[in-house]
Amino acid sequence: MVVEFRIPLDAPNIGELEKEYVMRALESGYVSSVGPMVTEFEECFAAYVGARYAVATVNGTAALHLALRLLGIGPGDEVIVPALTFIATVNPVVYAGATPVVVDVDPLTWNIDPGKVEKAITERTRAIIPVHLYGNPADMRRILDVAREYDLYVVEDATEALGATYKGQHVGTFGDIGVFSFNGNKVITTGGGGMLVTSNPDLASRARLLVNQGRAPEAIEYEHLEIGYNYRLTNLQAALGLAQLERLPDFLSTKQRNAALYRELLQDKPGLEWQHELEEAVSNWWLFSVLIDPDNFGVDRNAARGKLVAAGIQVRPLFMPLTKQPSYKHYGLNGCPKAESLHKNGLNLPSTSFLTAEDIRHVCEVLLSR
Ligand SMILES: *Cc1c(COP(=O)(O)O)cnc(C)c1O
Repeated sequence: MVVEFRIPLDAPNIGELEKEYVMRALESGYVSSVGPMVTEFEECFAAYVGARYAVATVNGTAALHLALRLLGIGPGDEVIVPALTFIATVNPVVYAGATPVVVDVDPLTWNIDPGKVEKAITERTRAIIPVHLYGNPADMRRILDVAREYDLYVVEDATEALGATYKGQHVGTFGDIGVFSFNGNKVITTGGGGMLVTSNPDLASRARLLVNQGRAPEAIEYEHLEIGYNYRLTNLQAALGLAQLERLPDFLSTKQRNAALYRELLQDKPGLEWQHELEEAVSNWWLFSVLIDPDNFGVDRNAARGKLVAAGIQVRPLFMPLTKQPSYKHYGLNGCPKAESLHKNGLNLPSTSFLTAEDIRHVCEVLLSR
């Protein structure tokens, strides 16, 4: 059963433009992975984030898997990941046959702690996957410094961070490869979908090959140069994506305005905190989230959550850290107290791009009510 919340956390924002573009795709007969709108979506997306190449994929998880395959990461290799993230950052490391190495996060930005990355490096380390959690840019300057010093690849998990910038540059364009997601709950959606971006022409052309079963481009025969995947986005999904991309600036300004209002209404309230942006970082505020210190706030995260849900307000605890995941138990990952404490006290608040100032005020009233 789908629970209807009066104020949704991260619902998609679908309007007339989406209907128009999807109808156009339907009427063209191009519904599957061959079709002009996929290329158009890739080109518009690359131009928006300022990457040289963009390759559309069936989802963000597939794009991450593809990224690791493109970089030749496999058995015997270690890949450094943050403890606090959605599981899809880490599963592709295992799909590739490599070993995830977990690093704790910074308690202010909630992103991978660059100081701890260096300590986790061994002679088997091949790559770092920084995540821009909830849209907040990670410390790319320090991460890139460490990567350069130890000759590691950087794959940016920017799946939550479309539109966020660091030093005026879009996140996802700092590493060797950047990855985005267009799942239904992300800043823009194609139903399900993803994008891999890079400035390396060889990686881009090989990505195009691998998403299409390794098939030789423009060949008459079904000749397959490499063992690839069926990871392509469809033309129907790209139609939705093109409409969403046009509306993205509006979505971003609404989210940033609402996050600013949350900060204004919640500042000076004892026991509440939220993610800090680094200097020169601009979050897209995909999900505005609070940390609740029960001793100073009066009630704990679970009690606050219960009160909001009872009022028809959709909220969610922060991601369960990797060190606590049953599926990763056999890796024996531990030693990430910062991620664990954020998870214990953190709550994502409604951040959907069609919420009004009135909605945000109501959420804060309920949160602060006694
Ligand atoms: C959404 C998400 C992904 C995966 O994207 P999908 O399109 O859902 O496969 C990966 N990493 C993080 C941090 C995400 O939030």
